[in-house]
Amino acid sequence: MSIADNLARLEEQITATCHRANRQRESVHLMAVSKTHPSDAIIEAYAAGVRLFGENRVQEYALKRAALQSQDFFAQHAPAAIHCIGHLQSNKAAQAAQLFDSVDSVDSLRLADRLNKAAAEANKQLPIFIEIKLSPEESKHGLTPDTVELDALLEKLPNLAHLELRGLMTVPPYSDDLEQARPYFRQLRKLRDSLAQQHPRLTFDGLSMGMSHDFSVAIEEDATLIRIGTAIFGARPAV
Ligand SMILES: *Cc1c(COP(=O)(O)O)cnc(C)c1O
Repeated sequence: MSIADNLARLEEQITATCHRANRQRESVHLMAVSKTHPSDAIIEAYAAGVRLFGENRVQEYALKRAALQSQDFFAQHAPAAIHCIGHLQSNKAAQAAQLFDSVDSVDSLRLADRLNKAAAEANKQLPIFIEIKLSPEESKHGLTPDTVELDALLEKLPNLAHLELRGLMTVPPYSDDLEQARPYFRQLRKLRDSLAQQHPRLTFDGLSMGMSHDFSVAIEEDATLIRIGTAIFGARPAV
Protein backbone atom coordinates (compact mmCIF):
# COMPACT_ATOMS: atom_id res chain seq x y z
CA MET A 1 0.00 0.00 0.00
CA SER A 2 1.28 3.48 -0.87
CA ILE A 3 1.23 6.44 1.50
CA ALA A 4 -1.62 7.89 -0.57
CA ASP A 5 -3.61 4.65 -0.27
CA ASN A 6 -3.01 4.54 3.48
CA LEU A 7 -4.11 8.16 3.82
CA ALA A 8 -7.26 7.57 1.80
CA ARG A 9 -8.24 4.65 4.01
CA LEU A 10 -7.39 6.59 7.17
CA GLU A 11 -9.41 9.56 5.98
CA GLU A 12 -12.44 7.30 5.53
CA GLN A 13 -12.03 5.99 9.07
CA ILE A 14 -11.61 9.48 10.54
CA THR A 15 -14.67 10.75 8.67
CA ALA A 16 -16.77 7.77 9.78
CA THR A 17 -15.66 8.21 13.39
CA CYS A 18 -16.44 11.94 13.35
CA HIS A 19 -19.86 11.17 11.93
CA ARG A 20 -20.53 8.60 14.64
CA ALA A 21 -19.29 10.96 17.37
CA ASN A 22 -21.34 13.85 16.02
CA ARG A 23 -18.29 15.95 15.27
CA GLN A 24 -17.23 18.02 12.29
CA ARG A 25 -14.36 16.46 10.33
CA GLU A 26 -12.64 19.90 10.38
CA SER A 27 -12.49 19.81 14.20
CA VAL A 28 -9.89 17.01 14.09
CA HIS A 29 -6.44 17.84 12.74
CA LEU A 30 -4.38 15.02 11.33
CA MET A 31 -0.67 14.96 12.12
CA ALA A 32 1.46 12.52 10.12
CA VAL A 33 4.23 11.24 12.40
CA SER A 34 7.19 10.85 10.06
CA LYS A 35 9.85 9.95 12.65
CA THR A 36 12.32 7.28 11.45
CA HIS A 37 11.05 7.68 7.86
CA PRO A 38 13.11 9.52 5.23
CA SER A 39 12.41 13.05 4.01
CA ASP A 40 10.99 11.57 0.80
CA ALA A 41 8.14 10.14 2.88
CA ILE A 42 7.30 13.69 4.01
CA ILE A 43 7.26 14.88 0.40
CA GLU A 44 5.07 11.96 -0.63
CA ALA A 45 2.59 12.56 2.19
CA TYR A 46 2.48 16.27 1.39
CA ALA A 47 1.63 15.42 -2.22
CA ALA A 48 -1.22 13.27 -0.87
CA GLY A 49 -2.60 16.22 1.12
CA VAL A 50 -0.90 16.15 4.54
CA ARG A 51 -0.02 19.59 5.93
CA LEU A 52 1.08 18.75 9.46
CA PHE A 53 3.95 16.48 10.48
CA GLY A 54 5.37 15.21 13.77
CA GLU A 55 9.01 14.41 14.49
CA ASN A 56 10.42 13.28 17.82
CA ARG A 57 14.18 13.91 17.60
CA VAL A 58 15.98 17.20 17.04
CA GLN A 59 19.03 15.60 15.42
CA GLU A 60 17.03 13.40 13.08
CA TYR A 61 14.77 16.22 11.98
CA ALA A 62 17.68 18.65 11.49
CA LEU A 63 19.09 16.24 8.89
CA LYS A 64 15.74 15.75 7.18
CA ARG A 65 15.10 19.47 7.19
CA ALA A 66 18.42 20.06 5.44
CA ALA A 67 17.43 17.48 2.83
CA LEU A 68 14.01 19.09 2.41
CA GLN A 69 15.54 22.56 2.12
CA SER A 70 17.99 21.39 -0.52
CA GLN A 71 14.92 20.42 -2.57
CA ASP A 72 13.23 23.76 -1.88
CA PHE A 73 10.43 21.94 -0.07
CA PHE A 74 9.49 24.79 2.26
CA ALA A 75 9.47 27.42 -0.45
CA GLN A 76 7.18 25.31 -2.62
CA HIS A 77 5.09 23.87 0.21
CA ALA A 78 4.55 26.90 2.38
CA PRO A 79 1.67 25.65 4.56
CA ALA A 80 3.55 22.56 5.79
CA ALA A 81 4.11 22.62 9.58
CA ILE A 82 6.41 20.33 11.56
CA HIS A 83 5.85 19.81 15.28
CA CYS A 84 8.18 18.31 17.86
CA ILE A 85 6.38 15.50 19.70
CA GLY A 86 9.30 13.83 21.51
CA HIS A 87 10.92 14.48 24.87
CA LEU A 88 13.36 17.40 24.63
CA GLN A 89 16.44 17.84 26.78
CA SER A 90 16.73 21.45 27.88
CA ASN A 91 20.07 21.74 26.09
CA LYS A 92 18.30 21.04 22.78
CA ALA A 93 15.66 23.70 23.38
CA ALA A 94 17.36 26.45 21.39
CA GLN A 95 17.75 24.27 18.31
CA ALA A 96 14.20 22.94 18.64
CA ALA A 97 12.75 26.45 18.90
CA GLN A 98 14.40 27.32 15.60
CA LEU A 99 13.61 24.09 13.74
CA PHE A 100 10.02 23.38 14.70
CA ASP A 101 6.74 25.21 14.14
CA SER A 102 5.46 24.00 17.51
CA VAL A 103 6.76 22.00 20.47
CA ASP A 104 3.95 19.69 21.58
CA SER A 105 5.94 17.89 24.28
CA VAL A 106 6.71 20.62 26.84
CA ASP A 107 7.16 18.73 30.11
CA SER A 108 8.90 21.14 32.48
CA LEU A 109 9.07 24.80 33.43
CA ARG A 110 12.79 24.72 32.77
CA LEU A 111 12.18 23.60 29.18
CA ALA A 112 9.47 26.24 28.70
CA ASP A 113 11.87 28.93 29.97
CA ARG A 114 14.56 27.84 27.54
CA LEU A 115 12.16 27.62 24.61
CA ASN A 116 10.85 31.10 25.40
CA LYS A 117 14.35 32.58 25.45
CA ALA A 118 15.29 30.83 22.22
CA ALA A 119 12.06 31.89 20.51
CA ALA A 120 12.74 35.48 21.59
CA GLU A 121 16.22 35.31 20.08
CA ALA A 122 14.83 33.78 16.90
CA ASN A 123 12.22 36.55 16.86
CA LYS A 124 9.31 34.14 16.65
CA GLN A 125 6.18 33.10 18.49
CA LEU A 126 6.34 29.41 19.30
CA PRO A 127 3.12 27.44 19.84
CA ILE A 128 3.37 24.74 22.51
CA PHE A 129 1.35 21.92 24.04
CA ILE A 130 1.99 20.74 27.59
CA GLU A 131 2.58 17.01 27.78
CA ILE A 132 0.64 15.39 30.61
CA LYS A 133 1.65 12.11 32.17
CA LEU A 134 -1.45 10.17 33.14
CA SER A 135 0.14 6.76 33.07
CA PRO A 136 2.43 5.45 35.82
CA GLU A 137 4.85 3.92 33.28
CA GLU A 138 8.45 5.03 33.80
CA SER A 139 8.98 5.41 30.06
CA LYS A 140 6.31 8.12 29.71
CA HIS A 141 7.17 11.79 29.93
CA GLY A 142 5.05 14.72 30.98
CA LEU A 143 3.80 16.70 33.95
CA THR A 144 1.46 15.02 36.39
CA PRO A 145 -1.92 16.67 37.14
CA ASP A 146 -2.27 18.40 40.52
CA THR A 147 1.44 18.92 41.03
CA VAL A 148 3.37 22.01 42.03
CA GLU A 149 5.35 21.75 38.78
CA LEU A 150 2.31 21.90 36.52
CA ASP A 151 0.78 24.75 38.53
CA ALA A 152 4.06 26.68 38.41
CA LEU A 153 4.28 26.30 34.63
CA LEU A 154 0.70 27.46 34.10
CA GLU A 155 1.22 30.43 36.43
CA LYS A 156 4.34 31.47 34.59
CA LEU A 157 3.19 30.93 31.00
CA PRO A 158 1.37 34.25 30.56
CA ASN A 159 4.75 35.92 31.20
CA LEU A 160 6.63 33.79 28.69
CA ALA A 161 5.73 36.16 25.90
CA HIS A 162 7.18 34.14 23.03
CA LEU A 163 5.27 30.95 23.84
CA GLU A 164 1.63 30.39 22.84
CA LEU A 165 -0.11 27.62 24.73
CA ARG A 166 -2.36 25.61 22.43
CA GLY A 167 -3.38 22.69 24.59
CA LEU A 168 -2.50 19.42 26.29
CA MET A 169 -0.95 16.26 24.91
CA THR A 170 -0.82 12.74 26.28
CA VAL A 171 0.24 9.20 25.39
CA PRO A 172 -1.71 6.49 27.26
CA PRO A 173 -0.16 3.09 27.98
CA TYR A 174 -0.30 0.81 24.94
CA SER A 175 -3.04 -1.77 24.93
CA ASP A 176 -4.52 -3.93 22.16
CA ASP A 177 -7.87 -3.26 23.79
CA LEU A 178 -8.92 0.20 22.58
CA GLU A 179 -11.27 0.74 25.49
CA GLN A 180 -8.30 0.72 27.87
CA ALA A 181 -7.23 4.06 26.39
CA ARG A 182 -10.59 5.79 26.85
CA PRO A 183 -10.25 6.72 30.55
CA TYR A 184 -6.91 8.41 29.81
CA PHE A 185 -8.35 10.45 26.96
CA ARG A 186 -11.35 11.39 29.06
CA GLN A 187 -9.09 12.41 31.93
CA LEU A 188 -7.07 14.69 29.65
CA ARG A 189 -10.26 16.41 28.44
CA LYS A 190 -11.48 16.96 32.01
CA LEU A 191 -8.08 18.29 33.02
CA ARG A 192 -8.13 20.76 30.14
CA ASP A 193 -11.59 21.94 31.11
CA SER A 194 -10.69 22.48 34.75
CA LEU A 195 -7.32 24.11 34.03
CA ALA A 196 -8.93 26.45 31.51
CA GLN A 197 -11.30 27.58 34.26
CA GLN A 198 -8.49 28.06 36.76
CA HIS A 199 -6.29 29.98 34.31
CA PRO A 200 -8.52 32.39 32.44
CA ARG A 201 -5.51 34.31 31.10
CA LEU A 202 -4.57 31.29 29.03
CA THR A 203 -6.60 29.91 26.15
CA PHE A 204 -5.91 26.34 25.28
CA ASP A 205 -8.52 24.26 23.52
CA GLY A 206 -6.25 21.70 21.96
CA LEU A 207 -6.24 18.03 22.92
CA SER A 208 -3.46 16.14 21.17
CA MET A 209 -4.29 12.49 21.76
CA GLY A 210 -4.75 9.31 19.76
CA MET A 211 -2.31 7.31 17.62
CA SER A 212 -2.67 4.72 14.85
CA HIS A 213 -4.36 2.07 16.95
CA ASP A 214 -6.55 4.21 19.22
CA PHE A 215 -7.39 7.42 17.34
CA SER A 216 -11.06 6.48 16.95
CA VAL A 217 -11.54 6.41 20.73
CA ALA A 218 -9.56 9.67 21.03
CA ILE A 219 -11.89 11.36 18.52
CA GLU A 220 -14.90 10.14 20.49
CA GLU A 221 -13.33 11.75 23.57
CA ASP A 222 -12.82 15.13 21.83
CA ALA A 223 -9.28 14.97 20.43
CA THR A 224 -8.53 18.01 18.26
CA LEU A 225 -5.25 16.60 16.96
CA ILE A 226 -4.45 12.95 16.29
CA ARG A 227 -0.86 11.80 15.75
CA ILE A 228 -0.65 8.99 13.22
CA GLY A 229 2.57 7.27 12.16
CA THR A 230 2.26 3.56 11.38
CA ALA A 231 -1.15 3.76 9.68
CA ILE A 232 0.26 6.27 7.17
CA PHE A 233 3.91 5.32 6.69
CA GLY A 234 3.88 1.64 7.65
CA ALA A 235 5.78 -0.04 10.49
CA ARG A 236 8.90 1.65 11.83
CA PRO A 237 12.16 -0.26 11.94
CA ALA A 238 12.64 -1.74 15.43
CA VAL A 239 15.27 0.18 17.41
C1 LIG B 1 5.54 7.63 17.37
C2 LIG B 1 4.54 8.50 18.00
C3 LIG B 1 3.22 8.57 17.49
C4 LIG B 1 2.72 7.74 16.31
O1 LIG B 1 2.54 6.42 16.69
P1 LIG B 1 1.83 5.33 15.72
O2 LIG B 1 1.41 4.27 16.65
O3 LIG B 1 2.89 4.89 14.76
O4 LIG B 1 0.71 6.01 15.03
C5 LIG B 1 2.33 9.43 18.11
N1 LIG B 1 2.69 10.19 19.17
C6 LIG B 1 3.94 10.14 19.68
C7 LIG B 1 4.27 11.00 20.85
C8 LIG B 1 4.89 9.31 19.12
O5 LIG B 1 6.12 9.26 19.66
